[in-house]
Amino acid sequence: MTVHGSWERAARGALLLDPDGSARTTIFAEMSALAARTGAINLGQGFPDYPGPAEVLEVAQREIAAGNNQYPPGRGIASLREAISEHQRRFYGLEFDADREVLVTAGATEALAATILALIDDGDEVVTFEPFYDEYGACIGLARGVHKTVPLAAPDFQPDLDRLRATVTDKTRLIVVNTPHNPTGAVFSREVLETIVDLAERHDAYIVTDEVYEHLHYDGSVHVPIATLPGARERTITISSGGKTFNTTGWKIGWLTAPAPLVDAVLAVKQFLTYVNGSPFQPAIAAGLSLPDEFFASLASDLAGKRDLLAGGLRAAGFGVTLPRAGYFIVADARPLGFTDGADLCRRLPELAGVVGVPISAFCLPENADQYSPLVRFAFCKRLDVLEEASQRLASLTP
Ligand code: PMP
Ligand code: GLN
Repeated sequence: MTVHGSWERAARGALLLDPDGSARTTIFAEMSALAARTGAINLGQGFPDYPGPAEVLEVAQREIAAGNNQYPPGRGIASLREAISEHQRRFYGLEFDADREVLVTAGATEALAATILALIDDGDEVVTFEPFYDEYGACIGLARGVHKTVPLAAPDFQPDLDRLRATVTDKTRLIVVNTPHNPTGAVFSREVLETIVDLAERHDAYIVTDEVYEHLHYDGSVHVPIATLPGARERTITISSGGKTFNTTGWKIGWLTAPAPLVDAVLAVKQFLTYVNGSPFQPAIAAGLSLPDEFFASLASDLAGKRDLLAGGLRAAGFGVTLPRAGYFIVADARPLGFTDGADLCRRLPELAGVVGVPISAFCLPENADQYSPLVRFAFCKRLDVLEEASQRLASLTP
């Protein structure tokens, strides 16, 4: 049976449309299934294998037991919207009205989808950086937008500013920013952020900023939300989620903060995607956002130790490694080991070393994938014993 529909545009945008016309599953699902099938250590999909803070987990359990299991309000429960507003004030000095300028969503995933669907009309151009998180391409495709990319090149993965200036034009409706960046772990410099704001103002574009790794900065790196830059707030939708900060990626509690008319436009779409979600998890994430500063600092210092452990293992195995300044992932260059095709290496890695990674080329448009071909992404949001075991296994790759 041949099925036609907008799934084809989503699959094409997320680079999942096979030459025979069928849609593959995402690279994350494919690699997690490969790990499950082979018993390999899964350093592919980015999710923690350790629990979140007990205070947060206990709130969800109490809420379920107490009967908080029906639809929450459309914009999210008031205490969570207030906690999000307070979080933006506490960490960044940003003021957002909890009633009109905050929206709770089904993960950052829904916030991104609803935003892109709400703001993009047929043929509008959307600029993202490349490599890019696969959802951006899929949603741009669903919205019938035109996807333009600006490359990020190793080792620092910062965009070339002239290339950025040449890509943003009057046809650009949205610039999608993702800092800290998945998959590279890059943190955009202030100069890059200022250039994006300047271009958005000049060409009257909106900025959508995906900041789900906002609390995972290492080595003194500091998170600068683009909405804090002069001129940015009124045209920016800032998106984040509780998944990475509280080790609750399965709860799917995300949010966005933006000026009220933008929130209203996104809500108009969001209410027909999920309507609402996660009633017992919303108060739990509100409790998490209110944890003391020490919690957020220890989260980052723990992850920095994990990053260093896996980076050491990858280097010892012979990969070329640049330390990421933020996020969940290390990008490893497989050329020193004699591999030039990361996608092929990832398919064989369970058999060669009992480990799963994700090729960076999966985050690129087909015409640009070659530039990133030898690079593989490994997640370090795993227990230390798991990372040690993975490092030992990877050592078997050494020629
Ligand atoms: N954006 C980026 C850059 C991500 O890495 C992820 C998931 N890991 C998401 C969005 C989706 O977040 P959520 O799980 O909250 O939907
Ligand atoms: N964001 C996670 C990653 O990059 C996975 C999310 C997903 O599977 N959609 O690994």
